[in-house]
Amino acid sequence: MPPGYERLDAEVPGLYAPRLARKARELSGHLAQGYRTLGRILSVEPPGIVAYLVADEDWRRAPRDNMRPYPPGLPYFTRSVEPPALVLPEELSTVFRPRTAATLPLTVWHELVHAFLLRREAVRTPAWLGEFVPQAASAAVARRAGLPLEEHLSRIEREPGLSVRGFRGPAGAGDQMSFQNLLLLLGAAALTEFGEGFLRTIFHALWEEDEIVDEERAEDLLGAALGPDGREWLVSRPEFQEEPF
Ligand SMILES: [Zn+2]
Repeated sequence: MPPGYERLDAEVPGLYAPRLARKARELSGHLAQGYRTLGRILSVEPPGIVAYLVADEDWRRAPRDNMRPYPPGLPYFTRSVEPPALVLPEELSTVFRPRTAATLPLTVWHELVHAFLLRREAVRTPAWLGEFVPQAASAAVARRAGLPLEEHLSRIEREPGLSVRGFRGPAGAGDQMSFQNLLLLLGAAALTEFGEGFLRTIFHALWEEDEIVDEERAEDLLGAALGPDGREWLVSRPEFQEEPF
């Protein structure tokens, strides 16, 4: 990291640009809440990670998996450093929508769930399942934390014709956001219908898989995790339907 970054001792230790001390404390609060709550919901030992709060001017120097810097304003998790790190920008990109009191914590918790998942090697899954787990788990944390999740969900603009299964990356940032929002809606609906228990089940099920998870297997796994009638419920959801153009 660039010289002069300061340390913040917490459950998820932080390094931050000195002029971002206030933001660092805010993020540290979200991280601690997510770290504890996810450990309980998923019943796993939290991973040993750090968080970097990176100033805009240092973004190009932040640790990452690839050579090229990532687009500014997009948080990510990287195992290119030891301990692995959540890299957080000083401001979220304007791509993140809707903007409510829940936007920042949900985004932080989403990346935290990836960090929990990557404590072990995980097999490849369809994009929708790999991103559903962080979206549903961060919605669960938001519910426990009493964030205005319903208001946030009600402000999501649905893209006509988009289904979580029909999404094919790579995609532009706007399409990525629509895809993530659809998964957040699906995750919140699953929590309302089935409670939080499926999160632990699907999380551990993904660790057990040793071959690439195809579309069929992904539906089986999530359907079974949701419980009896889980698969029927899943395939009947609007987020799962391909609308004819
Ligand atoms: Zn993700």
